[in-house]
Amino acid sequence: MAIIGIDLGTTNSLACVCQDGQIKLVPNALGQTLTPSVISIDENGDICVGAVAKERLVTHPSDTAASFKRYMGTEKTYMLAGRSFTPQELSSFVLRQLKEDAEHFLGEEVTEAVISVPAYFNDHQRYATREAGRLAGMRVERLVNEPSAAALAASRISRSGEGSYLIFDLGGGTLDVSVVDFFENVIEIIAVSGDNHLGGNDFDETIAHRFCEAVGIMYEELKENERASLLRMSERCKKELTSQKESVLTFGSEERTFTLTNMLLAESCQKLFDRISQAIKNVLRDSKRTINEIDEIVLVGGSSRMPVIFLFLQTFLGKSPCMIGSPDEIVAAGVGTYAGIKERKQEIRDLVLTDICPFTLGTNIVNHSDHERPIMSPIIERNSILPSSKTGYYTNAYDGQAHISIGVFQGESYYCEENVRLGNIEMDILPVRRGEAQIEVRFTYDINGILEVEVTDRYQNRTERVVVTCKTLRLSEQELKQRLQELNAYKLAPSGGIRTRLVLERGERLFAQLSGEERKEIAEVLQRIEESMREQNDQLIANRLREAEAIFDRLDDWKP
Ligand code: AMP
Repeated sequence: MAIIGIDLGTTNSLACVCQDGQIKLVPNALGQTLTPSVISIDENGDICVGAVAKERLVTHPSDTAASFKRYMGTEKTYMLAGRSFTPQELSSFVLRQLKEDAEHFLGEEVTEAVISVPAYFNDHQRYATREAGRLAGMRVERLVNEPSAAALAASRISRSGEGSYLIFDLGGGTLDVSVVDFFENVIEIIAVSGDNHLGGNDFDETIAHRFCEAVGIMYEELKENERASLLRMSERCKKELTSQKESVLTFGSEERTFTLTNMLLAESCQKLFDRISQAIKNVLRDSKRTINEIDEIVLVGGSSRMPVIFLFLQTFLGKSPCMIGSPDEIVAAGVGTYAGIKERKQEIRDLVLTDICPFTLGTNIVNHSDHERPIMSPIIERNSILPSSKTGYYTNAYDGQAHISIGVFQGESYYCEENVRLGNIEMDILPVRRGEAQIEVRFTYDINGILEVEVTDRYQNRTERVVVTCKTLRLSEQELKQRLQELNAYKLAPSGGIRTRLVLERGERLFAQLSGEERKEIAEVLQRIEESMREQNDQLIANRLREAEAIFDRLDDWKP
C-alpha cells in the first residue's frame, strides 16, 4: 500500500513516487509524465483524462472541461454530457487516473496521496482539493504548498542542500515568487508574493502586438479566430526562442513575416519585467532578506524556460538562477519526496513543513470621509507563520451605539470593498459614549487554514465566536459517501490502445479545425488507420499510426 505525491496543476498534473529511495515520476499510459488536466466523457459514458480529453476540447466541447483548478472551492459547476460536476469532482477524475497509473507503475495499491497546492490557496480551495482526493478513493492527510515542494526537491538535487531559496514560478497565467528557508529539516515559507495575471500568455500577447506593429495591422481589428491563431503562432515563436537564436512569425494570406530574437523579445516585454521585478521586490521586502542572503534561485513553471527570464533574473538579482531538471517536474518531485517521508522510508529523514498565511486578514473600520467605503484594518498580516492568533482593539463610532457589525476580510487593499469578504459577526453592545466601548476582535488561523473569529465586548464581558468557513460548499460525510458511489459508476476509459485513440481523436480535431484539401488528407489517413485495425495487423497499425502522427504534426504546424 503506497503513498504518492501529486502535483495537481491547472494545465498539467503529475504523479511521483519514492521507490528504493529514488524519486521517480510516474509515466502515464502514453509513457509521458505530464497528464493534461482535462476531462471528457466519451460516447460510452467513460471518462477520458489527459491528452485524449484535450483533443476532444475542440471536437466535443460540451462533454469536455479544462482549467477547473481555477474554480476549486467555488460554487461553479460544469455541465458535461448533460450532468453537473463540481471542480473537485472533475479533479477527482484526474487524481483517479494518476492513482491508476501509479498502481500500474508500482504494482501495488495506492491508498494515500500528498497533493501540492499554491501557497495562496485559501481554506475553501484547500478543502476542495482534499475532497477531490477522497472522491478519487485516496486519503489526503497532507497538502504541501508548491514552493515548499519545489524547495524540498531543489535541496535534494542542487549542491546547496539546506539553505534559503527564492522559488520563481512562472506558469501560463500566473507568477508566484516565494522565499523558503530549509534549515535543520524544517522547511518554512518565509514570504510569498506574485501576480495573478502575469504568465506565459502575456508574453504571447506581447509578441502578437509587436508583430502587428511591425507589419502594420491593428490587433484590435482582427477577428476572434484570427487573434487565436496569431496567439498560437506567437506562442510557438516564443518556445522556439528557447533553443534557437531567432524565430520567424508568418501570418495572414499576404505572407506578412516578422523575425523575433530574444533581444527583441526582451525589449518588447519591458512592462512585464517591471511587474516581475515588483513581485520579487515585494517578496524580499516581506521576508526581510537581501538577495545576498538567498542561496539559490529556483526556476519553476513552463515559462521559466525562456532565456529572457533567465537573463532578466541574472541581471536584476546579480545571481544566476538554477534550473533543476525540468521546471514542469520540480513540484511533483518535491511532493513525491514528501510522500516518501510520509511512508517513513528509511532513505529520507523526517522533515517538518510549516505554513504561512499568504494574505492579510482583517476587519472593517469606519471611514469618516466616506461612510459608504469602510477601511480595512489588518489583524493577521500576510506572511504570518501559522498557527497565528492576533487581536485587534476597536471602539464604538458614535454615542449610544447599540450594535456592531464586524466584517471579516481577506486581501491587501485599503478599502474593504476591494478585498474578499469571508464572513460577518453581528453583536449587540452596551450603549456608551463614543470612544468608550472596548471591543476586542481575535482572529485565530490554524495550520489547516481555518479561521476562527472571536468578538468580545469588554463592558459586558460577552463573546461571540464564529468559524469562518463556507459550509454550503462542503459535503457532509453522508453526502461524500453518496457522491463517491455515484462517481464510481463512471469508469476511466481503458488505457489499452490509448495511442491509437489519441491519434484518432487528434485527426478528428484537425478535421474540425481545417478545411478543403487538408480535410481530405485527414479523412484518408483516418480511413487507413481504421482499415489496418479491421485487419488486426499490429505491424500495419503501428506503421499507419506513425505515418498519421507525422502528417498531423505537419498540419498542427500549419501557418494561416
Ligand atoms: P505551466 O502552467 O507551468 O504548464 O506553463 C505553461 C506555460 O509555459 C505556457 O505559457 C507555455 O507557453 C510556456 N512554455 C512551455 N514551454 C516553454 C518553452 N520551451 N519556452 C517558453 N515558454 C514555454
